[in-house]
Amino acid sequence: MSFELITLLIVAGVVGLCIGSFLNVVIHRLPRMLEQGWRVQCAELSGEATPPAARYDLIVPRSRCPACGHRIGALENIPVISYLFLRGHCRACNAPISARYPIVEMLTAALTVAAIVRFGATPAGIAASVFLWTLLALTFIDFDTQLLPDNVTLPLLWAGLFANIYGAVPSVTLRDAVIGAIAGYLVLWVIYWAFKLIRGKEGMGYGDFKLLAALGAWLGWQMLPLIVLLSSVVGAAIGISLVVFKGRNHQIPLAFGPYLAIAGGIALFFGRPLVALYLPG
Ligand SMILES: [Zn+2]
Repeated sequence: MSFELITLLIVAGVVGLCIGSFLNVVIHRLPRMLEQGWRVQCAELSGEATPPAARYDLIVPRSRCPACGHRIGALENIPVISYLFLRGHCRACNAPISARYPIVEMLTAALTVAAIVRFGATPAGIAASVFLWTLLALTFIDFDTQLLPDNVTLPLLWAGLFANIYGAVPSVTLRDAVIGAIAGYLVLWVIYWAFKLIRGKEGMGYGDFKLLAALGAWLGWQMLPLIVLLSSVVGAAIGISLVVFKGRNHQIPLAFGPYLAIAGGIALFFGRPLVALYLPG
């Protein structure tokens, strides 16, 4: 490996760690921000007076320890390093800090490095990184809350179409992307209504349709069968490993979104040769 390549990968890793730190904030706060917004809307509709709420968004307030309220300073907020240095405990009250924060940071760094290795320090590499960062955030948000927020899935969809105007996703044409967005939405919409009419059950939500539309917009319609297939494989694998490692009664998430998102990430890296198996030429 050349010196330039090593430097590039280190830069990608460090950028990934910082983005991962931001994704932790998004994963934690976005569902709460949405909930707060819905409460205000409900109150407005029912004509109740709403007390002015304290500002709560991705920037304000500064992060605090959930156990003691200690404000987390800049030195305690360095991705992964602070966690290791503090041995996973709050500096003020010694309450344990969730290992999920450094895990999300390291995952983001690994995905960013993988995107740059695969697609280069090019618009394609940057587009792939943005795609993977968004999928990572959606995976954790849906896992936690069974929500796939519109203000993440829809921009992801537009961004996919936009990226494909400029050919930023290798071997996907704008036509593939537009059909992918429409077909991705329709496929799950049809399955949803078929299930609802036949079984009277809802297996998934509208967020899943929008997510598959976004994946179609990024990767093209050709990838959709593979993504749906992979998501059931990923779902089964996660379900089985949760049962094996965490015991039978561990709650397996009902959300389909994380599996779709993970399948989308796998399809970005490994999809082409697999699609060739069912769509030759
Ligand atoms: Zn504390």
